[in-house]
Amino acid sequence: MKIIMLGAPGAGKGTQAKMIAEKYSIPHISTGDIFRANIKGGTELGMEAKKYMDQGQLVPDELTVKILLDRVAKDDCKNGYVLDGFPRTIPQAEVLDKALSELGDAVDYAIDVDVPDENIINRMGGRRACVTCGATYHMVHVPPKQEGICDKCGSELILRDDDKPETVKKRLDVYHAQTQPLIEYYTKKGILKSVDGTVDMMDVFAKITDILG
Ligand code: ADP
Ligand code: AMP
Repeated sequence: MKIIMLGAPGAGKGTQAKMIAEKYSIPHISTGDIFRANIKGGTELGMEAKKYMDQGQLVPDELTVKILLDRVAKDDCKNGYVLDGFPRTIPQAEVLDKALSELGDAVDYAIDVDVPDENIINRMGGRRACVTCGATYHMVHVPPKQEGICDKCGSELILRDDDKPETVKKRLDVYHAQTQPLIEYYTKKGILKSVDGTVDMMDVFAKITDILG
């Protein structure tokens, strides 16, 4: 099963993608996580990506597409995957479709987690991410057991640089201009499914599992 998660930054794509990955035993692939791991590791890719991420902009397609195609070619992707944060532009979607069609394959579902901009600003300010394992929390909606500490690995929780309010606004503008057109792209392909992302995360997940079966 090959699934794409669509939605504004902070809509809950990562939260849902992790649960989908666990239930259906497929890898969760987040291009944002791959970039952050590279930034942490001080790689050349990480240093290049950081310039764009800190500005709330998209990393150029040339860089992003290559890391994604390398990742989905790995063995653990044989039975499918859930993509979180990719594609974010029409050209990225076209490259993925072309690569899959050359293998006689295609994306099965594009799930749009729909959350209005007003809710997003609040969500992002409260998001806390683990510096080590990438687990995400929300200070109000999904608090860790101990403030500032990851339940899963005990590391420190931080507010991501790009979750600061000025950058979130920019990221929403970029989302509307460059990523939202993908909703029409996948609607035309007949695989778009929209879910209300403003309700409790377990209710969002229930709607998604109704769709995926
Ligand atoms: P995305 O991957 O789309 O950027 P996340 O999954 O990281 O978004 O979610 C953004 C923030 O909102 C996180 O702090 C997360 O814990 C919280 N969150 C996710 N889903 C919900 C929900 N249904 N209701 C309230 N808060 C949520
Ligand atoms: P995310 O963790 O998905 O919110 O992504 C964080 C940041 O990484 C984004 O704001 C972009 O700068 C960059 N990024 C992640 N995925 C992509 C992508 N598919 N295309 C371009 N930039 C991306």
